[in-house]
Amino acid sequence: MIRDKLTRIRDTMEQAARRAGRDASTIKLVAVSKFVDPQRILEAVACGQLLFGENYLQEAVEKRPKVDSSTRWHFIGHLQSNKARQAVTLFDVIETVDRLKIAKALDQQAKELDKELSVLVQVNIGREPQKSGVLPQDTQALLQDIRHHTNLLVQGLMAMPPFSDNPEDSRPYFKELVILAKQLASAGLFQDNEHVELSMGMSTDFAVAIEEGATIIRVGTALFGERI
Ligand SMILES: *Cc1c(COP(=O)(O)O)cnc(C)c1O
Repeated sequence: MIRDKLTRIRDTMEQAARRAGRDASTIKLVAVSKFVDPQRILEAVACGQLLFGENYLQEAVEKRPKVDSSTRWHFIGHLQSNKARQAVTLFDVIETVDRLKIAKALDQQAKELDKELSVLVQVNIGREPQKSGVLPQDTQALLQDIRHHTNLLVQGLMAMPPFSDNPEDSRPYFKELVILAKQLASAGLFQDNEHVELSMGMSTDFAVAIEEGATIIRVGTALFGERI
């Protein structure tokens, strides 16, 4: 079941990459496992899926020890600064840094734990009032401030366009994130300005995201089924 779904997702990734003249092996699939129990995560691991995304710290605290130690985990939920230590301990990448306060807290904990922490900056690309993420026009200033926090490695940007059933609705937002990332890279604001990570695309729109340049896609429902 999971094996078939994973095969289908990998095929779709291949085709989208080919349409865009890209190499699919450079695109990372984050299996979003919120509300998915460890047993089903292990099923995915058995099929070769080693990268997972979680939204809730408490859930990850309980699940990660039960899952193969060769896996890597991205935090993709809303983070509070008083939970920074737990996040730095549990996760390999934090995709949702969207304000200086949280960057400071993560940097401090990373220093104390003697760790360099890879992060992405979450951009509110649809400028939706209810959504997390720094506004596109404020992103450069945030990255400039984060630079002083030397234990954080800013690998790129993450975004979630406004919800829609039609994947084509996401395309202009993906394009906008790519343009923003290029501007910030030319200002030298990422860890590696030649290889900027773009985490964009979920179950419904990941093929479009890959066509537009996603290097990380975050897929839950298409792999594990509807969340209840
Ligand atoms: C839940 C979630 C996903 C996965 O969404 P699906 O539509 O189930 O693929 C991706 N990114 C974030 C930030 C999420 O919260």
